[in-house]
Amino acid sequence: MSATIQSPSPVEIPFVRLHDPSPDTLEELLGVVREVATEGAFTMGRHLDLFERDFASFCDAEHAVGVASGTDALELALRGLGIGRGDEVMVPANSFIATAEAVSAVGAIPRFADVDPDTQLITAETASAALTERVACIIPVHLYGRTVDMDPLLALARDHDLLVVEDACQAHGARYRGRRVGSIGDAGCFSFYPAKNLGAWGDGGALVTADPELADRVRLLRSHGERPRYQHHVIGGTARLDALQAAILRVKLRDLDDANEARRRGAARLRAGLVGSSVESPALPADAGDHVFHLFVVRVDDRDAVRDALAARGIASGIHYPTPIHLTGAYAHLGYRAGSLPIVESLARRICSLPMFPSIEDDEIDAIAAAVTEVTDL
Ligand SMILES: *Cc1c(COP(=O)(O)O)cnc(C)c1O
Repeated sequence: MSATIQSPSPVEIPFVRLHDPSPDTLEELLGVVREVATEGAFTMGRHLDLFERDFASFCDAEHAVGVASGTDALELALRGLGIGRGDEVMVPANSFIATAEAVSAVGAIPRFADVDPDTQLITAETASAALTERVACIIPVHLYGRTVDMDPLLALARDHDLLVVEDACQAHGARYRGRRVGSIGDAGCFSFYPAKNLGAWGDGGALVTADPELADRVRLLRSHGERPRYQHHVIGGTARLDALQAAILRVKLRDLDDANEARRRGAARLRAGLVGSSVESPALPADAGDHVFHLFVVRVDDRDAVRDALAARGIASGIHYPTPIHLTGAYAHLGYRAGSLPIVESLARRICSLPMFPSIEDDEIDAIAAAVTEVTDL
């Protein structure tokens, strides 16, 4: 397969389009920015309270606590649940590295698990296979926007007395058997990094939980253990969600279900367009609500050549993620060898993420499908 030199491409399809609010929504967003600026209350305050109330309600959770990033949400969830030195925390090896970094940040050690070859997600079986006496918590990651099969995992956690912290940083709004993700385990963690399904105009995150004590501890930890001003009860830090981001997210939250529906429609059209090409589309969950297509990840042999050929046709793509976490330099000290988690490792060689975002147009999807079919037939 070789990409021939082309004249300037007729299509230019980005991997994600971040500047796509409708004109009305944009006016509303600029309106709340003006409000916060006029009030001059940039940290804590009513915009944060209102967003937390709305986000908790959206997630069917009792409490939401806004924090500075998804990584902070994971770290403070673990810290708030008492995980630390001497503990191991199970993490699927094919997540974004932040899932493992949060474990390391509290002094615990990530214990990496393999995944199901079809869903690419951690399961009760792959978690069992990686279980040790020291594991105190499991972090199921709803990777790419698809929900982990939680019931068997919760049963495993009950049998072994493990906490469950959901990493829902790619799955805002997804449902598992009717329940919103994040509200199923002991805590759920979200990122509002701009490219996520719910994205801020900068960094942000939130933790949701039904446990009032955990919510309270995380509220203390995110802001110097302080309550009220200059009375410090625990050693915390600076990990607050800015008022500006909270106000922006509150506006965008209203459109989240519609935006996820647009992703699902786009994904269905792309899947149909790829039938007959030699790429494998993502396996479909039983219930459409169980996948919010943060990413549309296909598997294809000769992946790097396919990506080059798509790039030559003006179509962006990505790899999520090229190196499984246990084989990164950052975690070399744990001593995992190539071959230790074979499914994650073989997936990493074949996965390719195609463009998928709510404002993607039908003709863009058709152009992607046509180009993929063409370049994989070469
Ligand atoms: C984005 C992401 C995070 C980290 O979120 P940040 O807001 O970037 O800190 C954690 N886990 C997963 C699976 C993510 O995709």
